[in-house]
Amino acid sequence: MAGFKEIENFDELRRLRLADEGYFVITDTARHAIIHKVNAKCINADSFNLKVTINARKQGSYYWVDSIATAAREFGAERCKVCKPELSLVDPSTFGR
Ligand SMILES: [Zn+2]
Repeated sequence: MAGFKEIENFDELRRLRLADEGYFVITDTARHAIIHKVNAKCINADSFNLKVTINARKQGSYYWVDSIATAAREFGAERCKVCKPELSLVDPSTFGR
């Protein structure tokens, strides 16, 4: 996977969390887009359902991005102050498994 894509349903969100790669960007018509870690507690089913399913993405949406650079370039996203995605810049695979 590379670049970014919109997340259209909860199954897709769940699969991306399990894959544990990249980041999520949550856009909002009322404020800045925010980038989160894929497994951050800030990403939850209720908020996703409200924004994507109930509000039909009219006030914002969820995207998967491959990197913080993509999030900044495509969405002008700011880093979440709760899950602090800038602290996970090092690819965990470099530590071995
Ligand atoms: Zn977050």
